[in-house]
Amino acid sequence: MTTSGWADVDAYLVDNLVRDPETEAALAANAAAGLPAIDVSAAQGKFLSLLARSTGARRVLEIGTLGGFSTIWLARAVGKAGRVITLEYDPRHAEVARANLDEAGVGDRVDIRVGAALESLPILEAEASEPFDLVFIDADKVNNSNYVRWALRLTRPGSMIIVDNVVRGGAVADGASDDPAVRASRELVEMLAAEPRLDATVLQTVGAKGWDGFAYAVVND
Ligand code: SAM
Repeated sequence: MTTSGWADVDAYLVDNLVRDPETEAALAANAAAGLPAIDVSAAQGKFLSLLARSTGARRVLEIGTLGGFSTIWLARAVGKAGRVITLEYDPRHAEVARANLDEAGVGDRVDIRVGAALESLPILEAEASEPFDLVFIDADKVNNSNYVRWALRLTRPGSMIIVDNVVRGGAVADGASDDPAVRASRELVEMLAAEPRLDATVLQTVGAKGWDGFAYAVVND
């Protein structure tokens, strides 16, 4: 099947299973504000939400907010008493996300921290709040391994860590690649394999966003 075939299947599945005016409105607002369309796909957004719901996640950390599309899905899953903390470098993205989250009716359960995530994460740790149940990593790919190391400091046994865009159109299997994002994906896979505190896999995905995949890890007891 071709890339356009993957997109057709995604459109069919989303039409039937994901139609969702609030997140569609967020995507429209992102486009109107000139944000890049690098959010997770609608099917992936709903999958994240279902995963968080089915595991009873109440505290979620997201690294990479953009306009808050994935954040809305996660915030719905944690429920009214839950909390999502999302880290975003670009103040303009954070501003659009804040409006989208408020418009979607979940703004009161989302805390957006603006700044480089590697500077926000030590602040979060110093706050010594409860551990996160789920960490979703979707920011600057070269720092993925650093973000997983930080996630390990901020989670508990049984918590999930998900890292998006690891497969990179299959390039993750190319040991000769000099693309920094591909090298970072390979470093991440090797780090996940060697890290005794994590049990992990990577699932490939195809769809409207092309061929990619995400790492899924659980913190060991
Ligand atoms: N998770 C979002 C979604 O699916 O709707 C998409 C996130 S987008 C792929 C990546 C975001 O990470 C961008 O908004 C970018 O500004 C942000 N970002 C890049 N480098 C960052 C950093 N060092 N710290 C925090 N955010 C960063």
